[in-house]
Amino acid sequence: MHNFTSPHPEEEHKSHRSAWLRAAVLGVNDGIVSTSSLMLGVLAAAADKSAILTAGIAGLAAGALSMAVGEYVSVSSQRDSERADIAIERRSLASNPHEELAELASIYEHRGLERDLAQKVAQQLHDHDAVAAHARDELGIDHEALANPTQAALASASAFSLGALVPILAAIVSARQASAWGIVLASLVALAISGAVGAFIGGGHKVLAASRVFLGGGAAMAVTAFIGHLIGGNI
Ligand SMILES: [Zn+2]
Repeated sequence: MHNFTSPHPEEEHKSHRSAWLRAAVLGVNDGIVSTSSLMLGVLAAAADKSAILTAGIAGLAAGALSMAVGEYVSVSSQRDSERADIAIERRSLASNPHEELAELASIYEHRGLERDLAQKVAQQLHDHDAVAAHARDELGIDHEALANPTQAALASASAFSLGALVPILAAIVSARQASAWGIVLASLVALAISGAVGAFIGGGHKVLAASRVFLGGGAAMAVTAFIGHLIGGNI
């Protein structure tokens, strides 16, 4: 497949970034919220600074690994089903070339081409790369750019780790007494920034996106700290 370069570079589309964007922003937010909440829960149970940091670092490791495994498994199964679909298509192209050509032409006709032109386009694309044409226009798959599970897993784990580092660093730099507020403030600011960045790249409303993660993250931290306080006082 030839790499297409747009004659209008100023016409910057955003949707092709959405998949990676969503995974990265979700990973960072998840890292911030789950690690800061975990640390605040342990802190509210009157633990000392080293216990709070141990909880944070263990939370980072556990979260990053579970995100990586989850992403690897889900992207692998997506890639497996894409490969299976392409194999079915390849077999059908070999056994029923005429039906497949007619099918492709009818797809183009439904998209608005006149019958003659649709058949001509289908024929030319068949001659050029029939599997690619069917994968792209019938299945919506770019068969030379299938999802890469390892890349997705690494991206997800690093995004989570990046987020988790925020409360951990906040706890490291602040004294024991002050670290609850240090964790909360650093995490909420980081959440607002990542929400706004996500909206900026995705073309969404920045303030709305920032306040959504800000409030959601704040609620998660408050609830976990409360539970930590309840449990800490009773064990
Ligand atoms: Zn087909």
